[in-house]
Amino acid sequence: MLRQTSIAVSCVLLVFLLMVKGTSAANAGSKLPDPIMAEVAEKLFRLDCGHSLANDESVWTPGENVGRSIEFSSTCWLIKHGSDWLLWDTGVPEATLNDPRGWSTLPKLIVYHLDKSLTDQLADIRLKPGDITRVAISHTHGDHIGNMALFPTATILMQHAEYRWIHSPNGPNDNVNQLMALARKLLGTPKNLQLIDGDTDVFGDGSVTLVSTPGHTPGHQSLLVHLKHSGFIILSGDVVHLEENFEKNIVPSLNTSKADSIASIEKVRQLIARYKATLFINHDKKQTDTLKLLPEFYD
Ligand SMILES: [Zn+2]
Repeated sequence: MLRQTSIAVSCVLLVFLLMVKGTSAANAGSKLPDPIMAEVAEKLFRLDCGHSLANDESVWTPGENVGRSIEFSSTCWLIKHGSDWLLWDTGVPEATLNDPRGWSTLPKLIVYHLDKSLTDQLADIRLKPGDITRVAISHTHGDHIGNMALFPTATILMQHAEYRWIHSPNGPNDNVNQLMALARKLLGTPKNLQLIDGDTDVFGDGSVTLVSTPGHTPGHQSLLVHLKHSGFIILSGDVVHLEENFEKNIVPSLNTSKADSIASIEKVRQLIARYKATLFINHDKKQTDTLKLLPEFYD
């Protein structure tokens, strides 16, 4: 009787321990901030990192807008946090500046132009590229990492899954393979590379959080920024390209996973609700044109 009881107690204890372990394992992956306790970053600047003309909008909105041309914005963001400067994406390569032929990641689909270099925009607020301590990239498409070479001493923050993907063998889609090859070239071999897995609190105080939003590419991420007056802002990366895609769950044909893309859009919706956050969509030119531009900033 005593032996049976002790076996039963052991079993209950074992189940309990497994449950506790399961819970901590489930929480370990999420570093999302507490909406009330999160600290704030001081300033958020928008930089104009190029604009592009695509000849067939339906690549980004399958089933709709076939053969219609569309203009996209390319946006970089700069965050001041104490003595740290974090740049979010590096945009279209500076060599594109004032080149009437433009530059392209996929020449048959899209051409990018640049009106002002990243270096000149940083100079407008008395910064040099060497002052940027961290560069976080949403993903490795060329229009988001065109100027990595300007920041050889910065810590580069990207998802492990993204790094693994661009160094993996080619797949069936030639456009995607072409984007991966360009990504390897533009990323190079950063001296200070910090590969992360999942949601990550950059400064350890809840002010700036990398949010894993795969689907557009396997290691795509967005950025959740907390500011004193503006509250929480989500920088989309390419989790969606247009407000309409966000509203209707429309997934571009170049995305590496449709299911992951839709799950990531849903994750962003939940973040907006939880943090009462504003979503700034990188390539949505209509929205971007309404936002503050450096030297103005959000705080
Ligand atoms: Zn992209």
